[in-house]
Amino acid sequence: MFSGVIGRYKDFLPVSGSTPEVTLGEGGTPLVRSRSIGPMLGCEGLYFKLEGCNPTGSFKDRGMAMAIARALETGRERVICASTGNTSASAAAYGSRYGLETLVLVPAGEVALGKLAQAMAYGARILAVGGNFDDAFRTVMGLVDILDIELVNSLNPYRIQGQKTAAFEVVDDLGDAPDMLCVPVGNAGNITSYWLGFNEYAKAGLSRKLPRMMGFQASGSAPIALGRRVDNPETVATAIRIGNPANWESANRVRDESGGMIDMVADEEILSAYLRLAREEGVFCEPASAASVAGLMRLPDLGVEVKGKTAVCVLTGNGLKDPGTAESRALVEMEYVAPDLEAVASMLSVDAGGWR
Ligand SMILES: *Cc1c(COP(=O)(O)O)cnc(C)c1O
Repeated sequence: MFSGVIGRYKDFLPVSGSTPEVTLGEGGTPLVRSRSIGPMLGCEGLYFKLEGCNPTGSFKDRGMAMAIARALETGRERVICASTGNTSASAAAYGSRYGLETLVLVPAGEVALGKLAQAMAYGARILAVGGNFDDAFRTVMGLVDILDIELVNSLNPYRIQGQKTAAFEVVDDLGDAPDMLCVPVGNAGNITSYWLGFNEYAKAGLSRKLPRMMGFQASGSAPIALGRRVDNPETVATAIRIGNPANWESANRVRDESGGMIDMVADEEILSAYLRLAREEGVFCEPASAASVAGLMRLPDLGVEVKGKTAVCVLTGNGLKDPGTAESRALVEMEYVAPDLEAVASMLSVDAGGWR
């Protein structure tokens, strides 16, 4: 039986006989071929890695399984993170399952409703910090110095280790690495993880090529693309609303080693990709995730050939995380009607088996 990323990829992970096999069934997410956007761009194959299918609805679960295993192995009783939402949801879930007290610091008023609901349901202690993610993260780093507590942000190397398993799955599914991998970039842990995973599989002889790594930030929150810290990051894509990424250096290294790029996309491009994914591909991801597809769609304008290429866009989180954006941006009005056939038929102007 499939037993999560640690069970499946033990040989590639820093685990020993005494590492507890922590799992909530993370990993093994679908790689779905695009029916609309890929053909429009002339890609040989465009695939979406549906990381929203993880147990708490984002890729963070892969890394959290490893980070929690490590925390248990070293006898920790508490874990802490700063979060734009998904890390806190994941930490709270694994924390509750394995009996660890979980403390999360989130930017007050800036976390999507679904993510907050998760952290609450799992029973984490939640501190809403009157500032942005970067303020919350700085505070967490201070607390880590004075408390006996495990940091489960992506500065934790075990998070990166767990998350690299997504690259393994892509290669396992495609038979080789794609020509390019497009991924949204916030703290830049995920782009770091994928690159590590692709390199380890290539070294092990399990793939022949390495992809160009294409990272995309939101233009109001694009420190790496701009090459300077952003003090007041702003974007509808709250999961990547980060002005001073923890893995900044590493993101630059991945970009250079892979011959890739870290660029930015405007909120309108993100929202347009978000709606196209839902309306043309049947995939409902959160806004930050759609930055990968918005980025891919920009590549021809940036002089990067996508025709004839194989590309994977990582859809990092589930659309249900952020019901507010769907409600406000999808521009579908609910139509209220009396509970009888006549009223419904009349509203639909039913005739000859169809409706107008
Ligand atoms: C965390 C997150 C990101 C950003 O990943 P980083 O590793 O911080 O770059 C993107 N999308 C979603 C949905 C996330 O939860």
